[in-house]
Amino acid sequence: MRGGSKSIQTEDKHLIEVQNLTKVYGQKTAVENVSFKIRNGRIYGLLGPNGAGKSTTMNIIAGCLSPTEGTVLINGYDICDQPIEAKRQIGYLPELPPLFTDMTPLEYLTFVAEAKGVTDELIDRQVKEAMTVTDLLGVKDRLIRNLSKGFRQRVGIAQAMLGKPDIIILDEPTVGLDPQQITEIRALIRRLGEKITVIISSHILSEIAELCDHVIILSEGHVVADDDMAELEARMNPETTLRMTVKADEDGARRVLKSVEGVRTVTKEGESAEEGTVTLQVTTTSETDLRDEIFFAMAAERYAVISMEQQEQSLEEIFLSLTAKGSKHKKEDND
Ligand code: ADP
Ligand code: MG
Repeated sequence: MRGGSKSIQTEDKHLIEVQNLTKVYGQKTAVENVSFKIRNGRIYGLLGPNGAGKSTTMNIIAGCLSPTEGTVLINGYDICDQPIEAKRQIGYLPELPPLFTDMTPLEYLTFVAEAKGVTDELIDRQVKEAMTVTDLLGVKDRLIRNLSKGFRQRVGIAQAMLGKPDIIILDEPTVGLDPQQITEIRALIRRLGEKITVIISSHILSEIAELCDHVIILSEGHVVADDDMAELEARMNPETTLRMTVKADEDGARRVLKSVEGVRTVTKEGESAEEGTVTLQVTTTSETDLRDEIFFAMAAERYAVISMEQQEQSLEEIFLSLTAKGSKHKKEDND
């Protein structure tokens, strides 16, 4: 969705266009001026700490909550003006799935398929297909209330698949599950993502990084990042820091470092641990790894490199800095 592809963007169809969405609950502004686009055939992550506005945004996209301001287009249908057509494009699993626990998965899914207007002759086939994909056939006749949380979540996902929507939206689908169940649900989401567009929300960065092609980060109701997973790291990480200790005098070490192309800044770090050595923080452009070149340049001057480690900003740090309380909402305008 970023730079360089503007002409393609206008021709490309977006499945979902969220424009200037704002939701105010009483005194509380839960989301403010949120805009993003969802393209076909990928897994999107809506990432943000608790209270960031993920569920509010998803509820509005799914047509379960009306926005205070802004519009949502789903396959071109306005969720407020053409809710029936718009909702037909989407399968939704809310944060608290509306399961009828006194029904069996088979009964419940049949009921949901009817409610979604799936025609009679297709109901059995679609229910069976949804139960197959979510691996529910073995428990289809047990009461939902007796199923584990992992299996209940699968019933919730199966219900979202009914009606064959183009997009499935899952709000924190792994919350409250044990590690084994989390692995299974993630594998299921990956399988779904091979066929249709999936949007999941999570407050867990590693989950989004593992599953998603694209991430939209929400913080305090604002979009603070909207990037392909790989781009996020590159964009937020314009430079790399090396920390090194060299057997050299400071001036000599600086002279050698400055001669290496790509080195940006050199800063001496406190007192050296050892007599005759100097410890330096070196920032470099991030595209290339300069460790080899620095090592050999030092060696050519007979300066021994005692240690050198690359300190990259982790995704976790990027996420924390983007969502830090009170941090300025700093998404640049891409479109
Ligand atoms: P998330 O899903 O990211 O945790 P939510 O969308 O649930 O965030 O909530 C965003 C903010 O809106 C939070 O501060 C929450 O307390 C508030 N909020 C959510 N629903 C309501 C509501 N029905 N009434 C008042 N405030 C709400
Ligand atoms: Mg939520």
